[in-house]
Amino acid sequence: MPIPVVWSPETRRHEPMREVWVGVPTDGTEVPERVDRILDTLADHERVIAEAHDDDVLCRVHAPAFVDHLRTIHAEWMAGPYDDLVGQDRVVPYVFPTPAMTQGMPPTRAAATHGRAGQFGYDTMTLVGPGTWEAARAAVDCALTAADLVAAGAPTAYALCRPPGHHATRDGYGGSCYLNNTAIAAQALRDAGHPTIAVVDLDAHHGNGTQAIFWERADVRYGSLHVDPGAGWFPHFFGHATETGAGEGRGATRNLPLAEGTADGPWLEAVRELAGFAAGADALVVSLGVDAAADDPESPLRVTADGYAAAGRLLGSLGVPAVVVQEGGYHLDTIGGLVAAYLDGHEQRG
Ligand SMILES: [Zn+2]
Repeated sequence: MPIPVVWSPETRRHEPMREVWVGVPTDGTEVPERVDRILDTLADHERVIAEAHDDDVLCRVHAPAFVDHLRTIHAEWMAGPYDDLVGQDRVVPYVFPTPAMTQGMPPTRAAATHGRAGQFGYDTMTLVGPGTWEAARAAVDCALTAADLVAAGAPTAYALCRPPGHHATRDGYGGSCYLNNTAIAAQALRDAGHPTIAVVDLDAHHGNGTQAIFWERADVRYGSLHVDPGAGWFPHFFGHATETGAGEGRGATRNLPLAEGTADGPWLEAVRELAGFAAGADALVVSLGVDAAADDPESPLRVTADGYAAAGRLLGSLGVPAVVVQEGGYHLDTIGGLVAAYLDGHEQRG
């Protein structure tokens, strides 16, 4: 039986419109059509519509104050003067209370919506518009429904999450991610009784949000291979090999940064190493970004569809219950085929 696909039409509701990158508005690439391109390619897989879940698991991965902010900030923006004043309906922060500003002092809640906009976001690329909350929340339901299928005995389930999630931290959004679908799936599998979980992140970029959420936990390991942030790539500040976790989580984080131009051979060596890192865990969550592929506009890693299929076989060979969560992947003509290649490989195993 092909791996079931959990999706929701609500995930189409987020329209990024644009990103503000180094001061310049550029077109967003994380577009709703990604969902349809993937669905079209997975036509022979069973489709499951995501079921609504309450905020219980969500609020053990994210701070409730952040969740409330994301739920309400766009309506506040529209109630203020901004749409008339600046002529656009997207929430865009302009001031961020980072340590450069707070210097150890506790900041008071900003009264103005445009001030508060920066409190729970960390970049200017990730705008909040009409439908952003609904889509991000539906993506969480996709991840949770996939975890439910696995808890009910499916060997593997695929969550077609959009927007992606692995850059979202406990307290904030960024990197085109709002809520961390992968971390929520991992927590749900823990709650379903699996004592240890391994997250393997195949996206071209380091999943700083997932790493941060499980940084001090031993029960959820995080392993990632990605283009080297030390060579100037997002998320810039995290994803180096020296980051291995802290406290009880010491040694439970593994980062394998890769050079630009890495192709299938070295990339699959890194996947093999992460499969070893994940071995022995009771369940697996795969952050399936396909933006490491050769045609992707966001990635320099040049991985092929055959490479993704081989990665699927390596991780499927672990033989543990698995939730595969969609992360990045922005080349519309190839995104579906890359996802299908991974899922076919995972299903076949080694
Ligand atoms: Zn990515």
